[in-house]
Amino acid sequence: MKLHEYQAKQVFADAGVPTPDSKLASDVDGVVTAAEEIGYPVAVKAQVQVGGRGKAGGIKLVDDADEAREAAESILGMDLKGYHVDRVLVEEAVDFTNELYVGITMDRGEGKPVAMVSTKGGVNIEEVAEEDPDAIAREHIDPAFGMHPYQARKAVYDAGVDQSIARDVSSVLTTLYQLWDDKDGADAEINPLMVTSDNEVIAADAVMNIDEDALFRQPELAEMEEEAAGGGDELEQKADEYGFDYVRLDGNVGIIGNGAGLVMTTLDLVDHYGGEPANFLDVGGGAKAARIANALDMVFSDDNVDSVVFNIFGGITRGDEVARGINEALEQFDEIPKPVVVRLAGTNWEEGMEILNEDLVTVEQTLEDAVQRAVEYAGEVNDQ
Ligand code: GDP
Ligand code: MN
Repeated sequence: MKLHEYQAKQVFADAGVPTPDSKLASDVDGVVTAAEEIGYPVAVKAQVQVGGRGKAGGIKLVDDADEAREAAESILGMDLKGYHVDRVLVEEAVDFTNELYVGITMDRGEGKPVAMVSTKGGVNIEEVAEEDPDAIAREHIDPAFGMHPYQARKAVYDAGVDQSIARDVSSVLTTLYQLWDDKDGADAEINPLMVTSDNEVIAADAVMNIDEDALFRQPELAEMEEEAAGGGDELEQKADEYGFDYVRLDGNVGIIGNGAGLVMTTLDLVDHYGGEPANFLDVGGGAKAARIANALDMVFSDDNVDSVVFNIFGGITRGDEVARGINEALEQFDEIPKPVVVRLAGTNWEEGMEILNEDLVTVEQTLEDAVQRAVEYAGEVNDQ
């Protein structure tokens, strides 16, 4: 199991490894807010579990809000070596003079863990290993005794790390081994470990792979895996809890419907009227008030959503019940977070329309009108 960079960094930071100040973001505004809080310049980094993100356009250094916005727009939603990017790490940029490599992995040949240090960090270490194997210093460790301090110092010395930072690099290497051991690591790696002009070292990237078979005794890490799974999307996890069929999309018109066919139709219509769907959300049959409230909670907590359209066809789900659910859910807000448009059809739809509180929602008679209205609302938000 592979941790995301932001997760591995958290684990490393908790153990005392210096890491840059950073924040996770999943939308453009979130990136800008995070960048302002951290202070420019920042690096915007795609959170996908694959190396070489920099070269593939998944990492951008930015100096101001405009650049941050531009970087967020290009990285969020991009396809990076087959991975969909839905989150970025916004991180204090490090002004570095050198990039080192430090890592711990299992040397299968020797049947022992090996600590590695190189001054050729920053680039793909496998390439370094192939082209210039001597550029990587190696020290095998006896797991029964752990890494002796002199072993860390020796690896650092053999690698040719500058004296002025040797002690700090040794300390990072020792901590990394400790973590590898404590957390049932398969690999633990910092590439690059950046050296700043004031001779400080800081982990600019972090890799931590955990032995799957040991996850049962690493509950904290298992939780991280759950977070990383499901596309790493909080909303998709929430949908699982609520028992909804939900898919997050890239647009800003939130869609709630009952029945997959009906939701698909709504999606197509949003597209037809020039809008972009933010999600697929099927609340299923028998949608009681509580389910409706949960569905609204889902779309409202998606920062990308600017308007919401309900398309409910009453069958088992009665229109009046849905209407009550929508009212109840919306009455809880002092201010409705995003405009909601409702179209009801089928069983008890007329009753439902009357029950709906038009101070809280816009009611439309036809699906076409409802969708058009929601697309308009979303457009107005964007024009502001
Ligand atoms: P990877 O390519 O997926 O391994 O991503 P890394 O996090 O290792 O970043 C790749 C490269 O981007 C680094 O070696 C740096 O050259 C550059 N980079 C990343 N973060 C920073 C930063 O904070 N400041 C500067 N100047 N460069 C950075
Ligand atoms: Mn890296």
